Parts: sequence; C-alpha cells; structure tokens
Amino acid sequence: MFITWLRFVTLLATVECGDLCSAAAIRDYAKLNAAASLMRHANERAAFIVRRPSDGSLRLVMWHAGDVGEASWTGRIPAGTIAIAHTHPPSTPDPSRKDLREAKRLRIPIVIITARRVTIVQIDGTHREVFGAGWTRRAR
Ligand SMILES: [Zn+2]
Repeated sequence: MFITWLRFVTLLATVECGDLCSAAAIRDYAKLNAAASLMRHANERAAFIVRRPSDGSLRLVMWHAGDVGEASWTGRIPAGTIAIAHTHPPSTPDPSRKDLREAKRLRIPIVIITARRVTIVQIDGTHREVFGAGWTRRAR
C-alpha cells in the first residue's frame, strides 16, 4: 500500500515538473536560450526534449530556426518526446494562446524559455513558472 502511494506521488511529481525541472533539462533550456540570443531578431528556437530509451537521459532534437518569429517542425514527433521547449522574446514571456492550444492538442507539455523565466504549459492547458530570474545560473 505504501509503495503504491509512493509510486503515485512520484508519478504526480513527474507529471507536474519532474524531468522537466531536472539539471539536464535546465542545461537544455540554457542551450536554447543561448541559441536564441545569438540571433539578431526576436526569433524563436525550439526543440523536442526526448528521453533516450537506453538510459533514460534527455536529449534535444532541434527544430529549424524560424526566420520570422516562430520555429517550425515538419514531420513526425520523435519517439520518446516528453516536451516541446521553445524560446520567447523577452517582451512576450507568457505562453501564447497557440502554446496553450498545442499542449492540449498534442498532449505534450510545452516549455517556454526566456532569459528571465521558464514556464511549463501542462497538457490540460494550465501553466506555471518553474524557474524565475537568475535561472540560467543553475545550468552551470
Ligand atoms: Zn510560444
């Protein structure tokens, strides 16, 4: 009974944030944030966060850089995808309506990254800030 409850709580934590708040995930967010900041315009960089079946570690599958605002992906969502992460310009740190809609439609959490905060949209369309100002220092 105790183990069942523990598993339930663990599962709940995983759904809430879990791997998406892990040190590996934070390093991935920092990579995306750095890639976006290298570009002159307010372009997005986006990637699938994919769990390797072999050892459970996470890797990024980068999308093509968008040349007018939004990154794009053509083709199938990679197997093992646990989230879609993308950057927003500093001026629009909140999830867009499209972000909320897509998280529900795809049933995949969507992570929004800016230099000042990281927000996760859950598959029910709710969202919350998981890291605030100074979060990039955690990536070192
Ligand atoms: Zn967005």
